[in-house]
Amino acid sequence: MRIDVLTIFPQMFSGPLHCSILKRAQEQGLVEINVHDLRDYAQDKHRMVDDYPYGGGPGMVMKIEPIWHAVESLKKEIEKTPNILLLTPHGKTFNQELAWEIAQEQNIILICGRYEGIDQRVSENIASQHISIGDFVLTGGELPALVVIDAVVRLVPGVLGDEDSAAGDSFYQGILDHPHYTRPLNFKGMEVPSVLLSGNHQKINEWRRKESLRQTLLFRPDLLKKAFLAEQDKKLLKDIIREEGLDERRKSGEYNKQD
Ligand code: SAM
Repeated sequence: MRIDVLTIFPQMFSGPLHCSILKRAQEQGLVEINVHDLRDYAQDKHRMVDDYPYGGGPGMVMKIEPIWHAVESLKKEIEKTPNILLLTPHGKTFNQELAWEIAQEQNIILICGRYEGIDQRVSENIASQHISIGDFVLTGGELPALVVIDAVVRLVPGVLGDEDSAAGDSFYQGILDHPHYTRPLNFKGMEVPSVLLSGNHQKINEWRRKESLRQTLLFRPDLLKKAFLAEQDKKLLKDIIREEGLDERRKSGEYNKQD
């Protein structure tokens, strides 16, 4: 997979892209990530990438020309038509499903906005997809781009080793991940569940499934409405509701531990 990022702050990417799994994925040739300074594609001697908004008002707007030139130049290098993702609060909210879809692509270009945003003609004529990372406004699209890159790259085949495979992660099966523990066995009276020490893998797997369901019921009950649940899962949920002493209102899905 090849990822190209268009930004006016390429330096924001150097830390996150050069450590841990993202670094390893690039070194192994599983993914190629190129960060481009949009100023290199500006057409004037001052390398301007922004200008005053038509109609007046505060702030500056990112110009279309540097973005258009950058995309055209990349298209010449890239064999397959790239999926061009515009990071914007107007976009579809990013989630694991979208991360999976993007991970199937061979080439993506991420466009990071700044200031008041980007000239609307980029959204309408250059971008093929619009992505938001949530209902809040950041100062720029660089952090959202890094969020997308991180979530997508870990899904590229071969990037995660067996030990940290995505299969057990939250959202993979529509529910949250189970709790994890490591040493010490007892920290100030807080103990690790004994089943995890039993060496009985069937029992451990059953416990993990049940605790995934418990986490989901307590923290994200909304996910249970869409998740595929086997008869055994439904039975486990009934047990959890009883164990947690959740009342009728909570059973109906209104209860959320985060509230
Ligand atoms: N005036 C714009 C608005 O209210 O929709 C916000 C512009 S924001 C200050 C500058 C840039 O940050 C945007 O062009 C976008 O690239 C990025 N950005 C900010 N919040 C974002 C979010 N939630 N998701 C994705 N990108 C975001």
